[in-house]
Amino acid sequence: MREAGYNVFNLRSEDVYIDLLTDSGTSAMSDRQWAALMTGDEAYAGSRSFFELESAVRDVMGYRFVVPTHQGRAAENILMTALVKEGDMVLGNAHFDTTEGHIMLRKATPVNLLTEEGYDPAAEAPFKGDIDLVKLEAALKEYGGRVPFVLLTVTCNNNGGQPVSMANIRATSELCRRYGVPLYFDAARFAENAYFIREREPGYGGRSVADISREMFSYGEGCTMSAKKDGLVNIGGFLAMNDEGFYQTAVQWEIVYEGFRTYGGMAGRDLAALAVGLREVEDLDYLENRVGQAAYLAQGLWAAGVPTVRPAGGHGVYVDAKAFLPHIPQPQFPGQRLVVELYLEGAVRAVELGTAAFAHRDPETGEMVYPRMELVRLAIPRRVYTDRHMDFVVHTFERIAARKASLTGLKMVYEAPVLRHFTARYEDLS
Ligand SMILES: *Cc1c(COP(=O)(O)O)cnc(C)c1O
Repeated sequence: MREAGYNVFNLRSEDVYIDLLTDSGTSAMSDRQWAALMTGDEAYAGSRSFFELESAVRDVMGYRFVVPTHQGRAAENILMTALVKEGDMVLGNAHFDTTEGHIMLRKATPVNLLTEEGYDPAAEAPFKGDIDLVKLEAALKEYGGRVPFVLLTVTCNNNGGQPVSMANIRATSELCRRYGVPLYFDAARFAENAYFIREREPGYGGRSVADISREMFSYGEGCTMSAKKDGLVNIGGFLAMNDEGFYQTAVQWEIVYEGFRTYGGMAGRDLAALAVGLREVEDLDYLENRVGQAAYLAQGLWAAGVPTVRPAGGHGVYVDAKAFLPHIPQPQFPGQRLVVELYLEGAVRAVELGTAAFAHRDPETGEMVYPRMELVRLAIPRRVYTDRHMDFVVHTFERIAARKASLTGLKMVYEAPVLRHFTARYEDLS
């Protein structure tokens, strides 16, 4: 840890036992996806694998046009280049960090409008990813023509992998229509969101995840997708939409940034594996196991007295580090200290989503602004670990809990100007 500057991003994966750093691109592909890989058509233009993907996107999402990209943020790049201009306000429930980055690169402002309970780790509510409709309408009124679109992230990664309800999606779409603003989705974890709707929202219990997903997407004009999540592939993404004019504009940017419109930064074989993954991710047995594993881990942690965001998210569990290590002040990185201890105790790798990731200096006053939540995310790769591995993670927490009063904070000794948590280095204050 000393050699790695107390930053787990500097570790080699072979020195990690259970890797819960991220669920992005870390999933295991199925036998059918590996088989599809062998059939990949590597033609530069008009690849058969592209048409397989196009047909999967039409079936699963209901959107007519697909623009493949090398990963999710490249789809965001094209969307923002095409639709966002200086001074714009991009409204959403909670934008992902790369989404915020692409909005700010255009000198526009990302606006996050989660409901109040979405920010309260302890609030036990079924749809903590919902956007606050009152605030949304106020923002649509206030900003008028400066809102190029509204973006709903399903599920919402920033506050714990929390889902957005169909009622909220429908109401958002009605508001958008009334104010003449299009609605798009950040669909990275759309299948997990649809599964939660099936489990938790009245009237959806008997419907298939495929059916629920199509209804969700029917309320929007299109989506960005990081296929490294619910595409069940290791790399890839796309932008999808219904409007032909927007498709033509997007293709112009795709050709400059990504590649020709029928491969867009992906190999033909990867398009083929993604076409299979997009359909597989809607399988009910898979989703029960997937979301069930996160809930199983959360239950073990609660039994061990570890405070987490409630309820468990779709892709993992978010530990409330402020509540677990209340004696370490936020400027001394309690979340990062917990990440370091998880590695020292059990060779478990997690990620801090608190002070290191989100604290920033107020441009006007020059004072540090600390995030409301100091979280440590345990993100579970898809189809990789068993519940026994989750038991081991819980035991690691139990051993840390027994000596947590003696843990001290950290001091950041190196930081990059943007996205500092990836490369930061720390010193131990003990
Ligand atoms: C991962 C992710 C992205 C960015 O996708 P990449 O494939 O990592 O570029 C965007 N939005 C959400 C919600 C994500 O989880």
